[in-house]
Amino acid sequence: MSLTIAVIAHDEKKSSLVEWVVDNAAALRRHRLIGTATTGSRVKAALPDFDLALVKSGPLGGDQQIGAMIAEGVIDLLIFFPDPLTPMPHDVDVKALLRLALVYDVPCAFNPATADLLVHSGLLDRG
Ligand code: PGA
Repeated sequence: MSLTIAVIAHDEKKSSLVEWVVDNAAALRRHRLIGTATTGSRVKAALPDFDLALVKSGPLGGDQQIGAMIAEGVIDLLIFFPDPLTPMPHDVDVKALLRLALVYDVPCAFNPATADLLVHSGLLDRG
C-alpha cells in the first residue's frame, strides 16, 4: 500500500529537506508526496519522476491545506523541517498544522535525524 507523505520546509531548511528526499529516494519512490508550493517544486526539480502534488505556498495557505488533508485522513506521514531561527508571518498556520498532526496522531518528523528514524522504522515498507 502506498502512503501519502506531506513534505514542507521553511526557507533555510529547504535544501536540507530536498537532500533528505534525494538520499531516501529509493524508500520514498513508491509513495505519493504532497508538498507546499516552493518546497514541493524543489523536490520535483530534483526528482522529476516522483508522484508529487503541490498545494499553495505555506504563507498563502498551503500549511492549512495540508492540515485540512490531515483532518480528512489523507496524510499518512508529515515531514516538516521548520526553521527555528527565523520569524514566520504564518506562524499561526504552522501551529494549527502541528496541532492537527497531534490530534490525528500522524507520524511526524521535524528534522533529518527523526525523518531517518521514520524511514528505518519499516513504516514505508508496509503493504
Ligand atoms: P513553501 O511553504 O514550501 O511554499 O515555502 C512552506 C512554508 O513556508 O510553510
